[in-house]
Amino acid sequence: MTIASYFAREVRLGEIPVLRALPAIGRRTIGPWCFIDRFGPLSFTDARPMDVAPHPHMGLQTITWLLEGEIVHDDSLGSEALLRPGGLNVMTSGAAIAHAEQTPRAHTGHLHGVQLWTALPESHRHGSPSFQHLAEVPMAEWPGGIARIFSGSVGGVASAAPHVSPIVGADLQVHPTSRLSIPMDASYEHGVLILSGDAAIDDQPLEARTLYYIEPGRAEATVSSRDGARVLLIGGAPFQERILMWWNFVARTPEEIRAAREEWTEHRRFGEVTAYRGARLEAPELTTRLAAPNPVS
Ligand code: MN
Repeated sequence: MTIASYFAREVRLGEIPVLRALPAIGRRTIGPWCFIDRFGPLSFTDARPMDVAPHPHMGLQTITWLLEGEIVHDDSLGSEALLRPGGLNVMTSGAAIAHAEQTPRAHTGHLHGVQLWTALPESHRHGSPSFQHLAEVPMAEWPGGIARIFSGSVGGVASAAPHVSPIVGADLQVHPTSRLSIPMDASYEHGVLILSGDAAIDDQPLEARTLYYIEPGRAEATVSSRDGARVLLIGGAPFQERILMWWNFVARTPEEIRAAREEWTEHRRFGEVTAYRGARLEAPELTTRLAAPNPVS
């Protein structure tokens, strides 16, 4: 079995420590997945640590999954959703949407989760925006642990979350001193990231803060743990289109990025997040080094 590893970068999103696992140097996509941010775990008392002001997206789907805490999503369509552990927020940007994400006033004082993006294929990236909230995603209990399947399906258990390309996304909970065997689609490539605890795949120990890549051809993987773990599994058919990411945009050409930045700056195309109190985010300066993405999630 070939497993490649990519060390994730630590960044900060305001007060929140973030592990940015994708894009990685040498690995831009896993299936259509093009962005993985793991935020937290974080405990807090007074301040509300997540306060991401309105910002635009295009060409992607954002998928937000929590292990602990709460996030309120508001967007330019007027959607509002309170996300809790076990539920899912899925925002399909199509050609243009804007949203804000905040810790709500009433909260548990904890925050731990992931925000993932998938690149939309050419057939869908110019389409209309939409937003879906799922109060819960399906769980499959197997010997050794529990799979919470938020995108696609695992072992015939399917999420109701909308997706465009063939994908899988799951949070695998492995019980202490246990082994959990997960059926995989052999036509997919997969990515694995520890969310908490300790884990090994096929007895190869996994490092924290490292994204693992499993090439197509696997029909099963066994995740084991000594003290118990939560492990993110993503996968999909290798994405056939070459993408260009800058800030919160997924595009194909620098010209598209320039146009989108200008339209956001001029309050055109993306709409306004009227539920958010406060100023929106300004786009960073465009430099000639378009290849360095720095999304705000
Ligand atoms: Mn965002």
